[in-house]
Amino acid sequence: MGPYPHESSTRPAQPFEIAARDGSARTGTLRTAHGDVRTPAFVPLASNASVRGLLPAEVADLGYDMVLGNTFHLFITPGHDYVRALGGLHRFMGWDGPIVTDSGGFQVFSMGHGSVSDEIKGRRDGRRSMVHEISEDGVRFQSYMDGSERFMGPETSMEVQAALGSDIALAFDECTPFHSDRTYTLRSMERTHRWLDRCVAWQREHAPAWQLLYGIVQGGVHEDLRAESTAYVAAADVDGIAIGGSLGQDKDQMREVLGWSLAGLPDAPPRHLLGIGDVDDILHAVAAGIDSFDCATPTRLARHGTALVCDPDRRWRLDLTKAAVAGSAEPIAAGCPCPACAGGFTRGYVHYLARNRELTGSRLLALHNLTFMAELMAGLRAAIAAGDLAAYTARVLAGDAPYRA
Ligand SMILES: [Zn+2]
Repeated sequence: MGPYPHESSTRPAQPFEIAARDGSARTGTLRTAHGDVRTPAFVPLASNASVRGLLPAEVADLGYDMVLGNTFHLFITPGHDYVRALGGLHRFMGWDGPIVTDSGGFQVFSMGHGSVSDEIKGRRDGRRSMVHEISEDGVRFQSYMDGSERFMGPETSMEVQAALGSDIALAFDECTPFHSDRTYTLRSMERTHRWLDRCVAWQREHAPAWQLLYGIVQGGVHEDLRAESTAYVAAADVDGIAIGGSLGQDKDQMREVLGWSLAGLPDAPPRHLLGIGDVDDILHAVAAGIDSFDCATPTRLARHGTALVCDPDRRWRLDLTKAAVAGSAEPIAAGCPCPACAGGFTRGYVHYLARNRELTGSRLLALHNLTFMAELMAGLRAAIAAGDLAAYTARVLAGDAPYRA
């Protein structure tokens, strides 16, 4: 590992400093071996060791401190030994800032739970794998790359994340889909808790001393299970807490389940909400006390020709492939400081690029959408520090730009 000059030899006892609060919301600094993360933070996906289409310096210039690498996909290809031999994930992908890696649990169980995973997150098109067996040890499955049988359990997940050398590892968990009944969700949650203990044991002994470990709260849409899982994860030897699993079938239920998951959490550990990235959901979750988010939406929308704009009635989305924007000389969003809008590129131009699947189109939209999210998070941090989070949230929900005056 290393040698990064800023890579400390051990993880700090208290990796998270809260600088200011507004109600339940917090703004602060998460300290990792590869630098600080300003919170609340949105974390762009670098699933396959790249923020698709962008260079690391571009991602940093947009205002991002941390990216997320995908344990399952990097395990399948190119393999964690391959990445380790090329210096670990930071050096491999040329990003020397903080990296969080997910547990691999979501992808490995998505295969077994089939298309219902689509209700939580998009599936990789045309690259389905098959689960052969789920046991106390872990999951046996058929690789989508070459059809070979592979295995991933808690120790495998920790081993992969240690080899990648991420700053934050996530404990291996089962992400139960919304349709799971209470009995299955309970059994799964209890197994996830046993897996957490195995992850802690392996990670503390073998992983780089500076790697932080987050446990994951599960429990589906059941209040008592969420409470039990929150208590279990909070009592474990972890550095932070992630909230995962199905949060319900609509936004009202999601907010209720999030509330159950946060109730009774100790104040000090940083809290990450997995896979949530809609503007109104982030506004709600920050007010409820979430410190970081990851989501594929901004970059995935960009690849499909959709921009994030100040339009709450259309879920902050503008589809630039539609004929209505053909020939438009407007910028994607007036006042947006991103390289696309500030650079003078028009809706009409991006429409043409997107319709013809030009890479420049998805690059411009990725730069724009990630700028929108970065500005939103910067606005939230400033609002919490200033004690006017409610007013800022109301303005954004009313369609104001997230950019602060
Ligand atoms: Zn823009």
